[in-house]
Amino acid sequence: MYQRIAAEEAFATRDLIRAYRDLIDRKGTDDPGFLALMGYHLNNPSQRTRDITDRLQDLGERRIREMDATGIAKQVLSLTSPGVQIFPDAAYATAMAAASNDELVEAIRKYPTRYAGLAAIAPQDPAGAAKELERGVRKLGLKGAIINSHTRGEYLDDQKFWLIFEAAEALDVPIYLHPNTPSPAMIRPFMERGLDGAVFGFAVETGLHMLRIVVSGVFDRFPKLQIVTGHLGEGLPYWFFRIDFMHGASVRAGRYESLKPLQRKASDYLKDNFYYTTSGMAWQPPILYAQSVVGMDRVMYAMDYPYQFVPEEVKVTDELPISDGDKLKFYQTNAERVFSL
Ligand code: MN
Repeated sequence: MYQRIAAEEAFATRDLIRAYRDLIDRKGTDDPGFLALMGYHLNNPSQRTRDITDRLQDLGERRIREMDATGIAKQVLSLTSPGVQIFPDAAYATAMAAASNDELVEAIRKYPTRYAGLAAIAPQDPAGAAKELERGVRKLGLKGAIINSHTRGEYLDDQKFWLIFEAAEALDVPIYLHPNTPSPAMIRPFMERGLDGAVFGFAVETGLHMLRIVVSGVFDRFPKLQIVTGHLGEGLPYWFFRIDFMHGASVRAGRYESLKPLQRKASDYLKDNFYYTTSGMAWQPPILYAQSVVGMDRVMYAMDYPYQFVPEEVKVTDELPISDGDKLKFYQTNAERVFSL
């Protein structure tokens, strides 16, 4: 009755893993989130981390086999977080993004019915990122871009990054705003209790990033722009009422010079300019809740392979108490529409 399309599925090139190892070994970055996250994934001796690192680098038979075993018809692939956004040298990051997109497209050409992909881009060079997005879509057939939240502590609401939004809107492709570890300015209290990663830090960082984009007026400038978020919108659908109430009050009172009136309520943009995937959230209550507030057309399936590869979890979404038509939207047609599959 439907094909299961998984919208937030990660891979890594061998070169990227090598570059991450090199950054860690020669202390080429002092980003505490990156060192904690990739230090763990690349150096922890547990079976789980070794499996994840191996699976990330496989765009071949093993991945296809595991998709078959879990009934996943198609993965929308993206370069794993933080992608190339950690690299201090913008030209290096831009070249690394292009090389990774070329490798991704080779895999898609080998398995055209099983894979689609999003372009990695380097916001460190906004004009270069916009150009690589355009090359990715026009020349390589990629379906949008992935951006892993903050880039070296900077957020996309800064107008210097808006060239990227302008390109995405013009190309009619979405930006997937994927989590990163909290930026260096906010990570310390998370790390003190081991809460900086996917357990919670990702959601706080990325939810903040979503809201910064909304209140900065990005969507008044680019009304057709679409942003896809994982983890059911990093908690924000739960907050719509309070965000509207308090944001509206602050704007009317002129509380912050930086807080300008918007054409619509904050939650209107969160409903009409965002999509929500279920990556890592195989739990019916919040999925049904998200569907009830953003609508059946805006929530879609993702697994978060290989980080959360738990075959039994597919059953949770298969058994959602929604109509067959809504299940078709959830698993297949919403993804087909937003990613032009
Ligand atoms: Mn993910």
